[in-house]
Amino acid sequence: MTDISMHLTTDEIELWAQGLLPAARAMHLADCSLCRTEAERERKVILELVQLPKFAPSAGFADRVMAQVKVPTPSGDWQA
Ligand SMILES: [Zn+2]
Repeated sequence: MTDISMHLTTDEIELWAQGLLPAARAMHLADCSLCRTEAERERKVILELVQLPKFAPSAGFADRVMAQVKVPTPSGDWQA
């Protein structure tokens, strides 16, 4: 169940940073300066992570972000 007055979780802030946050939760974000501050801080972290030339092995957060990035794959035999 979704309570609009609930603050965003870290997971939801990650979704927001990826543009995947459900509208109901985005409405809370629009109203809540606390969550907006937190979200902007998270987004900066993400932007810094994706700009790193390589990721630390423990950066599951960055992996999840990168998993959302759809890279067009040429129909090559990269799996052979
Ligand atoms: Zn909030």
